[in-house]
Amino acid sequence: MITKQELKEQMLKDGISLFGVADVSGIKGHFVLTEEITKDLNRAVVLGYRLSQKVLDSLVDKPSPMYYFHYQRANVFLDSSILKVAELIQRDGYQALPIPASQMIDWENMRGTVSHREIAELAGLGWRGKNNLTVSPLYGSQVRYITLLTNMPLEADKPLAENCGACRLCARVCPAEAISDSPEKFDSGKCRIQLRKFEKIQFIGTMICGLCVKACKGKGNI
Ligand code: SF4
Ligand code: SF4
Repeated sequence: MITKQELKEQMLKDGISLFGVADVSGIKGHFVLTEEITKDLNRAVVLGYRLSQKVLDSLVDKPSPMYYFHYQRANVFLDSSILKVAELIQRDGYQALPIPASQMIDWENMRGTVSHREIAELAGLGWRGKNNLTVSPLYGSQVRYITLLTNMPLEADKPLAENCGACRLCARVCPAEAISDSPEKFDSGKCRIQLRKFEKIQFIGTMICGLCVKACKGKGNI
């Protein structure tokens, strides 16, 4: 059986920035999947891909066509990378359920099949930030994530016991004033309204922003 360490080394070699394993046995009720499908799948492999600092630096007060393209390609890279994890796990006779990197199934509440952020946090890759995104100590919110559910008995990582502290950099740049002093006070309604405005920009056409992502460099901020 391939070990967790071998899987991690393989993915880091292939260009993935962050790798973790989460115990998802307690949060399967959050997934938009039937019990029949998830019943043996108690582990999740999480991959993170760090976005280009320079692409983010080029944003001024709205998303740009270059950011849009980069964001899309990062998702495609993650979708391809998780297929490799799926193959390596299935080769050893275990189940592997890859979840798309960025596929909304509920646009109103901006939900996918699972929350990659929630699982990345369980896997210890970051904490929930005031901007409602996962904050990696190394790369801040400048990471895209993807998840694969499995019954392979991989050792789970532990969540981090850290938070944003006194940092408010993302709140200062949010055009919607959606960010407050804690993740619990994040106003997803205001954020969604802003994203719908950005969606109408020529060559964007999707609900992205990037401004609080640009602002958040993790430990470098705090
Ligand atoms: S994505 Fe944009 S609108 Fe939403 S919280 Fe971040 S900066 Fe504000
Ligand atoms: S910019 Fe600061 S406050 Fe905002 S999510 Fe990142 S670390 Fe937290």
